Amino acid sequence: MNWENNVRKVVPYVAGEQPKQKDVIKLNTNECPYPPAPAVEKALKEIDFDSFRLYPDPDTTSITEALAKYYNVSTKNVFVGVGSDDVLSMAFLTFFNSDKPILFPDVTYSFYDVWADLYRIPYKTVPLKDDWSIDKEGFKQENGGVIFPNPNAPTGLFEDVSTVEEIVSANPDVVVIVDEAYIDFGGESVIPLTSKYDNLLVVQTFSKSRAMAGMRIGFCIGNEKLIGYLNDAKFSFNSYTMNRPAQELGALAVLDDAYFKDITGRIVKTREWVKIELKRLGFTFPDSKANFIFASHKSIPAKDIYTYLRTRNIFVRYWDKARINNSLRITIGTDEQMKTLIGALEEYIGDK
Ligand code: PMP
Repeated sequence: MNWENNVRKVVPYVAGEQPKQKDVIKLNTNECPYPPAPAVEKALKEIDFDSFRLYPDPDTTSITEALAKYYNVSTKNVFVGVGSDDVLSMAFLTFFNSDKPILFPDVTYSFYDVWADLYRIPYKTVPLKDDWSIDKEGFKQENGGVIFPNPNAPTGLFEDVSTVEEIVSANPDVVVIVDEAYIDFGGESVIPLTSKYDNLLVVQTFSKSRAMAGMRIGFCIGNEKLIGYLNDAKFSFNSYTMNRPAQELGALAVLDDAYFKDITGRIVKTREWVKIELKRLGFTFPDSKANFIFASHKSIPAKDIYTYLRTRNIFVRYWDKARINNSLRITIGTDEQMKTLIGALEEYIGDK
């Protein structure tokens, strides 16, 4: 009767809605509005169906080699997983094993506190400054580990490499994880610093800039020792996390650098145009270097705009949470989608 006392109870992370109807403009989960690289489509059509009988390569050799070559590191510096959520979750389990609290910003990716609770890791949040930037001084207190996204989410603000380096070098006794899910839209990665700091782990994803959220591919780059410990945890958990098509198609996506640069460039161009339009309509926002904009309107509550946009079949992200409940996170879609969004906002705000 009392079995429930022994259950590991958790309050799960709530992902952005995946609406069932097809005719919506989906700007709520930071997916890429363009298809994956053409080589991925071609390979998918020619995939060796019979090979599905066999387990995938537990060492994820093809995609690991492609990433190592692309980022100019050794394969021993690369770990891949089922989306960066899988990589981050493994990294929490592996590296945050101290009695001291880990540190992350108060406004940040809302999965961090969920993993901390799941694995019973103590944590403390470091408030962002009033301009939404990361307070680097707050990350110099005693801690059991550090994690933050750069650019941060949902603010979109990018911190300079020198700021990130200052946080890493101030914390030599713990692992510092930099979550670069949105780095390819105008930021500068700290992957080159992983050869200088053996406690730095940089996590990235194929879900945004490589247009493959549905394939679930994430990876991280770090010192050989860090990656070794991650593999020990992974192989104590599930040897075959990444399926065959994900490994094969992911490797091909990395090889098509021209396509990658083209779609990320297009998204950046659209974002800069949307910034001008949103400003004109009375919105303010931190200057995003991500594929989304975190905007509040000077007079209309974010929740009202969110509700109105849904009636127009436009989905954006809204959180009813302290500090961020008057902001909307708007993913950058195609020019056409963003024109429809701006048109709908114009009508709504013009009527007010
Ligand atoms: N980190 C951040 C900051 C994110 O916003 C997301 C997307 N929800 C992720 C990691 C995880 O993305 P994925 O698992 O699709 O790689």
